[in-house]
Amino acid sequence: MKFFIYTFGCKTNTYESEAMSRLLSETGRFEEAESYGSADVVIVNSCMVTEESEKKAKKLMRRIRRENPEAVIVLGGCMPQVNREKSLDTGADIILGNTDRSGIVRVIDEYVESRKRIFSVVPHERGEAFEMLSPMGYRSLTRANLKIEDGCECFCSYCVIPFARGPVRSMPVENVYNVAKDLVNAGHREIVLTGINIGMYGRDIGYTIYDAVKAVHEAGAERIRLGSVEIDLISDETVRNLSEVPGLCPHFHTSLQSGSDDVLKRMLRRYDSKEYRRKIELLRECFDNASITTDVIVGFPGESDEDFRDTVRFVRETGFFRIHVFPYSRREGTAAAKFTDQIPVEVKKARTRELEKVAAELKRDFLGTQKGRVLNVLFERNAAGEARGHAENYVEVRVRSDVSLKNRIMPVRILEVHESGEYVTGEIV
Ligand code: SF4
Repeated sequence: MKFFIYTFGCKTNTYESEAMSRLLSETGRFEEAESYGSADVVIVNSCMVTEESEKKAKKLMRRIRRENPEAVIVLGGCMPQVNREKSLDTGADIILGNTDRSGIVRVIDEYVESRKRIFSVVPHERGEAFEMLSPMGYRSLTRANLKIEDGCECFCSYCVIPFARGPVRSMPVENVYNVAKDLVNAGHREIVLTGINIGMYGRDIGYTIYDAVKAVHEAGAERIRLGSVEIDLISDETVRNLSEVPGLCPHFHTSLQSGSDDVLKRMLRRYDSKEYRRKIELLRECFDNASITTDVIVGFPGESDEDFRDTVRFVRETGFFRIHVFPYSRREGTAAAKFTDQIPVEVKKARTRELEKVAAELKRDFLGTQKGRVLNVLFERNAAGEARGHAENYVEVRVRSDVSLKNRIMPVRILEVHESGEYVTGEIV
């Protein structure tokens, strides 16, 4: 049988899709199809973070049903865990929750045998175990994601994730070491630690994110990158300890969400702008040439013009390398969905456009600061006579080269910011 997986959302979802792909392939009875049109089983791994991602998944499922009516459709990911009715409405043959991705082969076999719709969703509960999933067979040899944590207990007022992902569960440190070792032995030069809220890593088992990073280093990884981290969950001591780990990349993605203290309070974020700024200064003190990237939500209920101006001022002062701007998306079941002062769509759109413009300027400015520096670049691919890769701080670097430099780490002197403002060019030294 042929299967095809369509993944929405975050790196964690991608990781879990790869893991399901592995489980299916290992049976010897399933092989990956080129597209959903030629597949017998189509798995849609959904995301519920925004209304947009939810709509896209539903639309895709209608299209699959229309264009490939014989296919068995599996709906997985966050939608089944958050909303039973919406999941049933999609018309999926199998609805699989977030607690049993390793059961993917079993549920498909059951469905093929009985042709009866399957709804396999178990609510999350405190104390549930971390589900060990190993993707291996990564599509990119250079960089591999390693999921070390699942769940979040922060309950920010706009966010549906704690409902979809449940309480914090951490991969035991010995397993982090062993999986990292396998990845290193398979030739990966960089390991990215991912999860739903990796700043909470280890709370359930008595460790911290520092222990996980140390384990990956001890397993022999040349480069280690942290996925998104919540700034308030990393203590000053942990920042200092992390800066001692060789190979940890000076690139930190930490969501700001708003530069207005009023808005942060109503978002139930656990820091104010002053504390956020202090932590960024500490990161910059501890890590040379660090890049800071972030997410900002615009048009949160009650966000006034003044609040928005505070955000624009704050992001300019902080000098982010990249900003992902999200117009606020009302998510059923969250505290903020009940707020009565929702912002009109046109205002959200205008603020998004304005902040995206600022983000593009800041990106160009940050890239400009790299000129003249020598950065160690991990090359990922060659295209149009160029070798392309990323420096430790995640700046994209391109050099002229007709030979493939794929999966090599080389020092590059940065010469120019490309006119697109998206990357820098340089020469190998
Ligand atoms: S920290 Fe807040 S925004 Fe992030 S997943 Fe948890 S609840 Fe959502």
